[in-house]
Amino acid sequence: MTVHRPSSLSEAYAVKKAHPECSYLLGGTSVLAIGGGETDLIDLNRVVPSSISEKDGAVIIGGGVKLEDVSSSDAVPAFIREAAASCPSLQQRNMATIGGNAASCRADGYMTAALLAADAILSVYDGDGERTVSYRDYVSSHESDWIIMSISIRTGIEGVMKRVSRASHMHAVVTASSCGGCYAYTASPSTIVWGGKDAYRNAEYSDDLLGSADYKRYLHSVIFGGEK
Ligand SMILES: Cc1cc2nc3c(=O)[nH]c(=O)nc-3n(C[C@H](O)[C@H](O)[C@H](O)COP(=O)(O)OP(=O)(O)OC[C@H]3O[C@@H](n4cnc5c(N)ncnc54)[C@H](O)[C@@H]3O)c2cc1C
Repeated sequence: MTVHRPSSLSEAYAVKKAHPECSYLLGGTSVLAIGGGETDLIDLNRVVPSSISEKDGAVIIGGGVKLEDVSSSDAVPAFIREAAASCPSLQQRNMATIGGNAASCRADGYMTAALLAADAILSVYDGDGERTVSYRDYVSSHESDWIIMSISIRTGIEGVMKRVSRASHMHAVVTASSCGGCYAYTASPSTIVWGGKDAYRNAEYSDDLLGSADYKRYLHSVIFGGEK
């Protein structure tokens, strides 16, 4: 395996353009996990920020910030911290980054529902420069060569984060998050929806090892104390 170590965003992007089969690397907990390691990598740790700052009523979390640091930052809204802390292993939280998690757009993601409900705004590098895109738009559609630089969340927002798993260290069966009237619902293996409280009604659910489609739909229907 070759690991490219670019020293600028433009260099990182150029490597990805030239070698689309390469994966970006931040914390490496996915791309270096057992079963990973099959592709060459582009290490972004020198070019993606890894600090938390506040500006214009928002907390800006560098893509390279570890989930453990997200979960313990007083600047970050409580339900976003809770989402980061839902990664159950301290070792993993100390390696995994919010950028890597957001990029993964996983239906069992630690952060997916909370970032959607919060209407988080990503700063991405797309080859021409840095621009912003809402996480909702990113989940719907994005280019695989975009580099997530940071994630901006309005300060002071309040929300709720819920995760159902069969044991604390197991993958989530469903997660759900709400903030300011937006509700986001995810369920393994591939359900991700958001909108009003009943947004789950439009979702397609599938059976998998974690549970039946009906079970997941039921969990979402009652998770905020709503109708069944
Ligand atoms: C045993 C185990 C269990 C896991 N369970 C879960 C789980 O339940 N929920 C969950 O969400 N995750 C889970 N993961 C996956 C992983 O740990 C997390 O998703 C983690 O947050 C990924 O962050 P990372 O920094 O390690 O990303 P990396 O492994 O470095 O990268 C992850 C993905 O994001 C891309 N990427 C990384 N940085 C950027 C960037 N700046 N811009 C664009 N793309 C980028 C990579 O190319 C790759 O596709 C699990 C992993 C393991 C090994």
